[in-house]
Amino acid sequence: MKRITLADGAGGEKMSKLIKQYVLKHLKNNAKNIDVPLSALDDSAVVNNIVFTTDSHTVKPLFFPGGDIGSLAVAGTVNDIAVMGVSPVALSSAFVIEEGFSVDDYEKILLSMSKTSRYADVPIVTGDTKVVESGAIEQLLINTSGIGLRTKLLDENIKEIRRYRKFDGKWIKDSSIREGDKIIVSGSLGDHGIAILSFREGYGYESEIKSDVKPLNKMVEKILNVGGVVSMKDPTRGGLANTLNEFVEKSNIGIIIGEEKIPIKEGVRSACELLGIDPLEIGNEGKVVIGIVKEKADDVLKALRKTREGKDAEIIGEATKNVKGVVMKTVVGGRRIVETPIGDPVPRIC
Ligand code: MG
Repeated sequence: MKRITLADGAGGEKMSKLIKQYVLKHLKNNAKNIDVPLSALDDSAVVNNIVFTTDSHTVKPLFFPGGDIGSLAVAGTVNDIAVMGVSPVALSSAFVIEEGFSVDDYEKILLSMSKTSRYADVPIVTGDTKVVESGAIEQLLINTSGIGLRTKLLDENIKEIRRYRKFDGKWIKDSSIREGDKIIVSGSLGDHGIAILSFREGYGYESEIKSDVKPLNKMVEKILNVGGVVSMKDPTRGGLANTLNEFVEKSNIGIIIGEEKIPIKEGVRSACELLGIDPLEIGNEGKVVIGIVKEKADDVLKALRKTREGKDAEIIGEATKNVKGVVMKTVVGGRRIVETPIGDPVPRIC
């Protein structure tokens, strides 16, 4: 009998196969009122002009350096909406709690959700609470869903793209990247995954490295205000490697990046070397990867660097037909193919 494995839910190649083979097989629906359908496997769907997304959070441990399951549950869903280029307007939160869970911790998590939702200026307006018997789950799971609405910012952004090149449709999608577009990363990679792994396993890097978990909707507004953004994605599970490969696959174009341009903190780099993990495959919770028409790349970079969350942003590469897949020029002058991770090198981080 075939059974689901941890790798099937790890955000990499195996999960992508599982979703295509089973979820899309049964749930695919391309009704006329759905602009971005399930089968696009984008960060959110768009139905009747409403951007809609959902995410379940199973992070272990529940409290970690830089955040907790509450801040994660709010920021994760806000960010999946924001990267569609729209304004998140409301969230739901559903709790599944194991019998015996500490009420103090429950309240700490709710306070953290409240604080994060106020920071993002996105209220939690509906929810659900279930308690299951001890042992049925581990401590607590939170699902958050959210909706977002289009504002003038997205229309202006698309107008700006069309000053430089052809652009179809009214949404920015993973499939919109074309030859010559630049790729920007909004900040250092791997902080979230390494902070949790280190804290969980006691490696000692957590004093230096904190999770980057943060709602990014305000930062995204600043980027859209400059305009020319064709695609955005938050590099969560599977990290930058997965995000760029999704762009490549859906946009049918190659991407070439420069290793020396990729922002990675020293502590993350040394932890990755010690543990044999590729920092490009680690999940982030406060970063955006942006595809942008080349004429606007420097302006967007400048605008990003003025924000707290985007101060370490870099242009890391560009889309080109001259390579297949994702290719990285290494610091020593070689070339390396960056593949979609099979699973997640650091499990249970979101
Ligand atoms: Mg996402």
